[in-house]
Amino acid sequence: MNLVLMGLPGAGKGTQAEKIVEKYGVPHISTGDMFRAAMKDETALGLKAKSYMDKGELVPDEVTIGIVEERLAKADCAEGFLLDGFPRTVAQAEALEDITSSLNRKIDYVINVEVNQDILMGRLTGRRICKSCGATYHLEFNPPASADTCDRCGGELYQRADDNAETVQNRLDVNVKQTAPLLAFYSEKGYLKNINGQQDINVVFEDIDELLKGLRN
Ligand SMILES: [Zn+2]
Repeated sequence: MNLVLMGLPGAGKGTQAEKIVEKYGVPHISTGDMFRAAMKDETALGLKAKSYMDKGELVPDEVTIGIVEERLAKADCAEGFLLDGFPRTVAQAEALEDITSSLNRKIDYVINVEVNQDILMGRLTGRRICKSCGATYHLEFNPPASADTCDRCGGELYQRADDNAETVQNRLDVNVKQTAPLLAFYSEKGYLKNINGQQDINVVFEDIDELLKGLRN
């Protein structure tokens, strides 16, 4: 099964990736891991990517695509893969089409975990940290007894700047804008499967599992 996993920050993509890997044994291929591995192995492309990153520059598409190509050709991808964080653009998606067809494969599904933005805002802005002991809480998932006091030590709780509403909203806006053309591309190809991410984590996985079962034979 050849899969691409998509979803906005906070949609629970990481959790679902773990569950897919656990049940189906396909490698989880995230862009970050792939870059780190290529640099560690000092492949020609890995070194090239490193030279850009060392200068603080963006790694050009052809290098990224080359690294993906090398990774998907490895033996552990023979039964399939779960791509996460790639592709990010339509140009990369088109390159992925070329890579898979040169490997005599095709993408089966692009799984898009959908959660509405109000819920994502709650998830992404709810974290609170204790100034004194560093304990972490979440107003929704792991709430302290009082919204601004640490249960453990009585210290004051604060919100990191990265977690404030404005920053999070910006991050979501950028992501929505970036992924819209990609979702349209995959929808047109017929690969796109939207999964309701606003359910219990296990129910979300049951929906994904239902889809993947059909690929097994
Ligand atoms: Zn504390």
